[in-house]
Amino acid sequence: MGVKRHPMGELIREDRMPHIFCPGCGIGATISNIAEALTEVKDEIDLNKVAVVSGIGCSGRAAGYFWLDGFHTTHGRPIAFATGLKLSNPDLNVIVFSGDGDLTTIGGNHLIHGARRNMDLIVICINNFNYGMTGGQMGATTPSHTKTTTSIYGNYETPFNLPALLTACGANYVARWTSAHSHYIKRSFLDALKKEGFRFIEVISACPVNWGRRNKLRTGKDMVKFFLEHTVIKENPDPKDALIQMDTPILCGVFADRNAPGYMRAMRECLSSKVGISEFRGDGKVELPEDKEKEKKTLEIPKPKQIKEVKIKLAGLGGQGIALLGLIIGRAACVFDGNEAAYTQEYGAEARGGASASCVIISSEKIDFPYVKKPDVMVIMAQGAFRKYRKDIQPNSVVFIDKDLVKPSNLPEGVKAYAVPATRIAEQVGRTVVANIVMLGFISALTDFFSLEAVKAALKMSVPKGTEEFNLKAFAAGYEYGEKVKKGEIV
Ligand code: SF4
Repeated sequence: MGVKRHPMGELIREDRMPHIFCPGCGIGATISNIAEALTEVKDEIDLNKVAVVSGIGCSGRAAGYFWLDGFHTTHGRPIAFATGLKLSNPDLNVIVFSGDGDLTTIGGNHLIHGARRNMDLIVICINNFNYGMTGGQMGATTPSHTKTTTSIYGNYETPFNLPALLTACGANYVARWTSAHSHYIKRSFLDALKKEGFRFIEVISACPVNWGRRNKLRTGKDMVKFFLEHTVIKENPDPKDALIQMDTPILCGVFADRNAPGYMRAMRECLSSKVGISEFRGDGKVELPEDKEKEKKTLEIPKPKQIKEVKIKLAGLGGQGIALLGLIIGRAACVFDGNEAAYTQEYGAEARGGASASCVIISSEKIDFPYVKKPDVMVIMAQGAFRKYRKDIQPNSVVFIDKDLVKPSNLPEGVKAYAVPATRIAEQVGRTVVANIVMLGFISALTDFFSLEAVKAALKMSVPKGTEEFNLKAFAAGYEYGEKVKKGEIV
């Protein structure tokens, strides 16, 4: 007797069987529907370029059941993760497969902004009306008056009307079916595959074990019967009629089918007209737009030098341009020197006037984690910031300070400190507001984290239009001071 294969064995991982879903659950059927649809188009699309992203929850297990690249991400964050995946790999078809609790409740903000941006993703939202995996708690889609473990007298909140929400946010495609409508799910998915932008398919899914059992639908069969008897499929249904109430039929169909430019196209069109770049490929290359006179060609960003990873933390008071300073350094290293850079910011609760910091990591290699815990270099421009961030200064690290504003004390062993009167020099140049740029010039003279051409280009790109020359003057003043320090003319 031969080995019995799963009928969707080409795309469903038999080695993961039996699956974890409860008897009668609608998730497995929906996974099969998507696998079936992909099998139908396997000669038209490259399945090596299809990725499935899930969050947490019963449906969050879906990514692991496909023979496709799969990512099981943190709770509520699959759309954020998928957005990054698509931006850095524009050729991928990115499918988000997750539950209502994950996508609409914990991750609700990501969902609405993904739709608003018309991000090029297909989102399959398994709506089982509750948090199934964690024991059946109420969520943002639990229908009014129905019971869950946290609404034992019936839910008295109004749930999201997902078709109305997603349509209002601007998604290109919005459809709703139930897990009993296999054929429609498959067709809908295939239609969505042909489109760009944000494509959202809600699947009202049987969860007899949690939501069903508490609402007199104890088995999968009860739930499927309920779905078939209590749904109405309409052509061009009005999203505002799609609120789920238990005493009226559940409206299904395609609520939105638009052809607005997806995020990638919108970005390309904007950037090709503004800066002459038509494609960001996420691999250190950009493509120039097709031009009737010029041949389309790929431009290699030069990689002038290899740089070992360096972690820089910049600290000052809100309003001193600490964030801008970090941004310029990151851009110099990344956009103009062709290295990798990661940039983060942090503010105190008081924002302006309070201590703030930004962190930049520069490396020739890919950067796995963007947060800086132990900086190699610290730049400190105010005493308040020194007090707050002194604990971050590492032994044998390098510190740059504004010598008029920071009086360092108790520095760890082996710290090499470089001091520049950045604010005083900025005043002499014309405005104290460019003290951060003076500091940038000073750092440039004393380190080789980025090339001089790159930092000047990044500076021009980052400061307000019309102030470029003034900022370059401040930069030159800081650079000159740094050169003197380097030669030992100033100590
Ligand atoms: S708890 Fe509900 S949604 Fe989760 S696997 Fe069981 S039936 Fe399916």
